[in-house]
Amino acid sequence: MSIQVIGANKRYGDFAALDNVSIDIPDGQLTSLLGPSGSGKSTLLRAIAGLDTLDSGTVRINDNDVSQKSPQKRDIGFVFQHYAAFKHLTVRDNIAFGLKIRKRPKKEVDAKVDQLLEVVGLSVFQHRFPAQLSGGQRQRMALARALAVDPKVLLLDEPFGALDAKVRDDLRRWLRRLHEEVHVTTVLVTHDQQEALDVSDRIAVLNKGRIEQVGTPDDLYDRPANEFVASFLGSTV
Ligand code: ADP
Ligand code: MG
Repeated sequence: MSIQVIGANKRYGDFAALDNVSIDIPDGQLTSLLGPSGSGKSTLLRAIAGLDTLDSGTVRINDNDVSQKSPQKRDIGFVFQHYAAFKHLTVRDNIAFGLKIRKRPKKEVDAKVDQLLEVVGLSVFQHRFPAQLSGGQRQRMALARALAVDPKVLLLDEPFGALDAKVRDDLRRWLRRLHEEVHVTTVLVTHDQQEALDVSDRIAVLNKGRIEQVGTPDDLYDRPANEFVASFLGSTV
């Protein structure tokens, strides 16, 4: 599913969190929203999800205007940085949760959950509780839970931010492989240049509520549109 945001504006008082932002997010690709803290990345992601209303502008998913639709009606899966798993449910039941509340037949739920446990490499931990997983395993469970209901779009807001460097590296590689398998249109918010360069098909660079440039990692690296993009990418650690 493709996403278009057209002329998005969002102000908090006098402050423009989004200043006339337009972006085309192509079907089946992994697009990152990259920028420093406060540049409007989460605001843009929340607007796509329908968690925030825009002051003006339009969000289209697969050519349908969803601007007035609730998050539930947008068929989107989210994974946020501080992901709240159900502590009292096992890994398996956490992943099954969205399917169960949609009253899918038990056979279908079991088959889907088995497949996702395999995909995210958590089959052997399926009867554990979230507290018995590592941070990286919990993030993989969160991704499986979001994928369980076959979202049209997967939105990830700094999903690996709280994890240590080694685990983050592993999860980036793993996310890239997962994306190559499932090809769900994915939007990843990150302030980490290396993360965006490593996992993305395309990157949109945000600064002060505006999009400075959209392109492939190579485009941005070889042909930065301006000084901001050049210095922001150049500051990669
Ligand atoms: P990012 O995710 O890039 O760090 P955000 O989209 O969260 O940035 O925020 C962009 C700007 O909007 C920030 O300056 C932030 O302080 C401001 N902002 C975001 N949400 C609110 C809010 N609910 N009330 C007031 N200001 C907000
Ligand atoms: Mg943010």
